[in-house]
Formats: sequence, structure tokens, C-alpha cells
Amino acid sequence: MLQPGLMMDRPLLLSSVIEHAAAQFGEAEIVSRETHGPLFRYTYAQCGTRARKLANALAGLGLKGGDAVGTIAWNNHRHMETYYAVSGSGMVLHTCNPRLHPQQLIYVINHAEDQVVLFDATFAPLVKGIAAHCPMVRAWVCLADAAHTPTIEGVANVQSYEDLIAPCSDEFAWPEFDERTGAALCYTSGTTGNPKGVMYSHRAIVLNAISGCNPSILSLSPADAILPVVPMFHVNAWCIPYAAPIAGAKLVLPGPGLDGKSLYELMESEGVTVSAGVPTIWQLLLAHVEQNGLKFTTMRRTLVGGSAMPRSLIAKFMDTYQVEVRHGWGMTETTAAATMGGLMPAAKGWPAEEKHAHLAKQGRTMFGVEIKVVDEQGATLPRDGESQGELMVRGQWVLSSYFKADRSPLVDGWFPTGDIATISPDGVMQIRDRTKDVIKTGGEWISSIDLENAAVAHPAVAMAAVIGVKHPKWDERPLMFIVRKPGHALEKDEILKFLETQVAKWWVPDDVVFLESLPVGGTGKVQKGDLRKQYGSVFS
Ligand code: ADP
Repeated sequence: MLQPGLMMDRPLLLSSVIEHAAAQFGEAEIVSRETHGPLFRYTYAQCGTRARKLANALAGLGLKGGDAVGTIAWNNHRHMETYYAVSGSGMVLHTCNPRLHPQQLIYVINHAEDQVVLFDATFAPLVKGIAAHCPMVRAWVCLADAAHTPTIEGVANVQSYEDLIAPCSDEFAWPEFDERTGAALCYTSGTTGNPKGVMYSHRAIVLNAISGCNPSILSLSPADAILPVVPMFHVNAWCIPYAAPIAGAKLVLPGPGLDGKSLYELMESEGVTVSAGVPTIWQLLLAHVEQNGLKFTTMRRTLVGGSAMPRSLIAKFMDTYQVEVRHGWGMTETTAAATMGGLMPAAKGWPAEEKHAHLAKQGRTMFGVEIKVVDEQGATLPRDGESQGELMVRGQWVLSSYFKADRSPLVDGWFPTGDIATISPDGVMQIRDRTKDVIKTGGEWISSIDLENAAVAHPAVAMAAVIGVKHPKWDERPLMFIVRKPGHALEKDEILKFLETQVAKWWVPDDVVFLESLPVGGTGKVQKGDLRKQYGSVFS
């Protein structure tokens, strides 16, 4: 007979994260860019105090465990307090992506049944447009003091956050409940159909955040200052707002200042050692650093994910700026990162190019996550680094069912990701493409990611995207879109010749379109659907 373990059964709850930080790292700092410009700084102890005041304020508004509270907000200290006050009270924090189409925003707020929505002043025009269509929302709270809270024409129940919490006690007894209770809700960006809700449990978030502190993931300690550029409104900012207080790391929140100059200056002035963001953000940051002949004096590590990090950008970070790149993979359905790249000790003597190629892969699973790749019949493919198939994932912080959905998307207990990947014998996973983006030509597959990677290695290319276009003979052929770097002349013949030296001949795109910019969606990814709509039949 199995023996019972004789340990206490304490639930993994988010309230314990902020209380831990307040008690153990009470003096560690949170620095936050206010939406109206200046920097605000305080400590984890003060953050905990204000989270408790907000918890009392929400209770005063009549909210109770299980109710949903929406946020439409930047990465800032009031958003951080809201993270803890809402989930810690047993309510559900619904982070809304302000870049969703207003119709989708209305849909998600109603679907989640948000009772109160906290928003940044930046998004007042958005609130004005949607408030009348969100009948369940009884209060719209602006994350500002009274002086910076706008009146919104046609929306009566707007109040300032500071006024709301000012009269409240800073004592609050966080309730204890099952760690499997829903803590936060985030919707996928809904490129096809309505957005789907992913409900994270306290347990999933705490386990991910603890794992994230690990030296081979975020590697956080009180000696670090971490700046999440990844938004708190999408996929929990990769759980950094939870991991930093667990580790006692200084947290630097950039507010609306996401351009290269603002980020660089904040990184330098606050001694940021670690940061996390999508490749497009790092492209803007490096462009600023290069143009102004700057360097990073404190930044040691950058975490990248959300879309594939081009090899050329990895090389620049590593070799020119001595910043380590960790390239990870995750999705809304996996709470935060599920895999993370990095170099093993054996890579020490490798040539630089080999290191970059390795770091362009999305890495090994974090403890708590398992992956496999399967063929179209669902049979598991070998881990040989060659066999491509759909990536399947399971683990303690992977979704089992969408919010309010009738059917679970799982197949034999695994979540099908819609990504195509390979896994090498040493466990390293590489995303080859999304199933909907891979180019099927003459019975073979071309990876749009690999082609884009090859193109951005050309010194005149700022951004590149590739789509499959219907072709009368080959089924599909690749069409490439290029945004030139400012001041660079580049013509079709030159880039095609360059690509011939980089990829197999039959991969070389049939045509190239030069654009001023690429359509980028709410989570910093190129919207290939938009490109397909406009150019999808140019070869027919
Ligand atoms: P959406 O953009 O639909 O909201 P997510 O934000 O959940 O979806 O993004 C998840 C998807 O992003 C993954 O399924 C994968 O296609 C892509 N992705 C995430 N990280 C990487 C990466 N490092 N390299 C390539 N693709 C990535």
C-alpha cells in the first residue's frame, strides 16, 4: 500500500507571493513609469499595503470571490497592485488587450462578466466607445489620481483609483481557498473567430513563477532588476510580476514608454539586468542603441519570445553588446514560457555562428512541461531534430479547457498547439512554423520563419515576412515582403541573389514586395492574415 506523505497541505495562492515579498524583501524597489510621464518608485512592502487597500475597496464595491475584474492597462505599479488585490481576494483578474478590435473588447468584457474595469487614462477614448455596450460593468476605475482621471463623456461611473483606495484600511485577511481556483483570465487574440478565454489557476501561476526564477530561465535574485516589456495585459507578462516578488528582484515597469529611446534610458537609469520582450521590441531598441553609438552598461540577459527571434539579432545582442539571449516559446494557453533556449557548458568552444544557430531554437522544456511532435495521424515522431510535426504540450500550467467552452481541445491529454516543430535527441525544440503559415509547395514544406530569418540577415533589411500564395502548378509558392532599413536601397534581384546563398534554391521566393511597414497585431506579431487577404492570389 502506498504511504501518505505527512506534510502540511498549504495551498499555492497568489496572496502569499506579495506577502512573502513584503515581508522578506520589503525594501526591494518597484519603479514604475506613470501614464502621464514621471517615474514613481516604492517598495514591495508598500505595494502589499496598497494591494490590501484595493482588496478592501473592491469588497466595498460589493465584489466577492469568483467575480471578474477587468484591466485595460500598461505595465505600471497600480496594475501590479490590481494583480494581487483581485486574485488574492479570490476574484478573477481579466487582463484585456487594448489592441483588440473594440468589438472584440466588448465581447471579452461581457464574456468574462467583468463587474469593474480598471483602465489607464491612455485608454479613455476606448472606454468611451465600449462602456455603453458593457452593461455588467458597474464602475470604471482610472489607474490614476483624481487630477489625472479624465471625465469621459457619456460614462457616468468613472472614478479615480487613488480616490477609491484612499479611505480603505490597509489590513485585509486574504482568504484561503483551493489552489486550483481561477486567478486570472486572458483571451487569445482571436485572429480567427472570437477570442477564447484561458483561465489560469493560482497553482499554475505560482508553479510557473517559481520555475521562472530558476537560473536557466529568468535567473532572478535580489541582485537583479527586471524590466518586463512584455505586457501585463497579455499572457501575464510571462509571469514576471509574480516571479520578481518571489525572488526579491527589483521590478521596473515601463508604462506606456515602449520606444527604443525610453526603454534604453530606463534600463540604464534603473540598472536593469534582465528584460523580456518580443523580437519587434528588441529590433526598435537595438536600432536606437546602434544609431546613437550607445552600449548597455548593466543589461546582462534578454528573454525573447512570442515570435521567432532572428539569428542576426541574436548575434548582435551577444557579440556586439555582450547581452545573453534566451529565446523561449509559450502561448496564451501555457500561462507563460513553456520552453527556454540557452547554451550548455559543452557549447563553450563552439564557433559564434553555431552558438547563434543554437540560440535561435526555442530550447528545452521547463520542469513541469512535456512536449512531443506528432504526424497528421497523431503518431509521435522521433526526436531526431529532423522530423517535423505538430507540437503537442502538456503540463501543470497548460490549459485543459477554454473558459465557458463545451468541449476540451485536448487530444489524449495533450494540447495541440498549431505550431510545427522538431525536437532533437537532446530535447531542444525548434519551431519551424505555424500550421497556418507553413508554405506547402509541390508536396514539400517551406518554413516561412527560416526564410524570414535568412532575409533579415541582409544588412539592408529591417523586417521580412513570407506567406504562401496559391500557385497553379506548385499548390503554393512563397511571396516575401520586405521593409528596408532607413537610408538603404535594396532591390529585388539583390535580395533574391542573397537568399540563394542562404537557403535551398526551391525555397527562394517567387516575388518580393517592398513595403513601408508590416501589419503588426496586438501582441507584436506580423499579421500574415492581412497580407494573405491582399496578396493571397497574386500568382494565380
Ligand atoms: P496569439 O498571438 O494568437 O495571441 P499567443 O500570444 O498565445 O497567440 O502566441 C502563441 C504563438 O506564438 C505560438 O503558438 C507560436 O506560434 C508563437 N510563438 C511564441 N513564441 C515563439 C518563438 N519563440 N518562436 C516562434 N514562434 C513563437
